[in-house]
Amino acid sequence: MRTKIHNAMTVDVEDWFQVSVLRKAIDYKDWEKQEIRILPSICRILDLFERHQVTATFFVLGWIAERFPEIVRTIQKYGHEIGSHGYAHRIIYEHSRDEFVADLARSIEVLQSITGEKVVYYRAPSFSITHKTMWALEELANHGIIYDSSIFPIKHDIGGMPEMPRSPFYLILQNGLRLNEFPLSTLRLWRENIPISGGGYLRLLPYWFIRRGIKKNNDEGIPVVLYFHPWELDTEQPKIKLSRLSKFRHYTNIDRTETRVRDLLTEFKFTSLGELCKMNPIERRWPEFAIDTNKRNLRRSNNQG
Ligand SMILES: [Zn+2]
Repeated sequence: MRTKIHNAMTVDVEDWFQVSVLRKAIDYKDWEKQEIRILPSICRILDLFERHQVTATFFVLGWIAERFPEIVRTIQKYGHEIGSHGYAHRIIYEHSRDEFVADLARSIEVLQSITGEKVVYYRAPSFSITHKTMWALEELANHGIIYDSSIFPIKHDIGGMPEMPRSPFYLILQNGLRLNEFPLSTLRLWRENIPISGGGYLRLLPYWFIRRGIKKNNDEGIPVVLYFHPWELDTEQPKIKLSRLSKFRHYTNIDRTETRVRDLLTEFKFTSLGELCKMNPIERRWPEFAIDTNKRNLRRSNNQG
């Protein structure tokens, strides 16, 4: 049975060698030498979404867009939203603010030159907006981003801010600008936020648990933000030697992603971030927070939600 609430479907468009876990094994300067494997996976994703009549938000890496503009044009032609996933998949806190701005601006420029439209959606590589890099939120708004989905309210070795709100919220920044923030979804269990909505969690957790997590969120009026990557459909990708934990997270059940997404599309309602906001104007329906990026804290500034 379908629940009434719509959830958000998102895809991070990067190839197998651009994943953060491989950044020490495959250097950025060697990206050009790697086998490009993304194209068939993108076609499968577009086909899957078309069959389920779902519109999604695709966060495209600038490096991919610049070399394969047809990918961006095709995604756009199928009616999906194009957002930025940065240019070079840099973990934000491993770089300076200036480097972040340069990477962001380059990705936006590449995407806008292909689509002819303003880029208003963003997702940080590996959700790397953390307490150390809250300034990134201000820079996003400075560069025209309106919808961000970079905050993961969990404890994690790369991204993660566990005390952040679990549901979409409206962020008022110190520079006076605003962002619609879509945190990655979690299930509140044993006083912890358990991630349920994408990437490795989508492949590693049992389906009944993911379903329960989505239902619980939806029952509370919270739309889930699902995410996955084209390389998660690519069972034949080159396997790189990793630590035991990374190997487990990265390659386990990689043959399961497509079925998982298909089952979720059958059971729940999904749409893009932009469409979701049109259905639920975020500033009226969801809580509003003022953020102090220097003190790195949030203050609730309305009583809604
Ligand atoms: Zn990524």
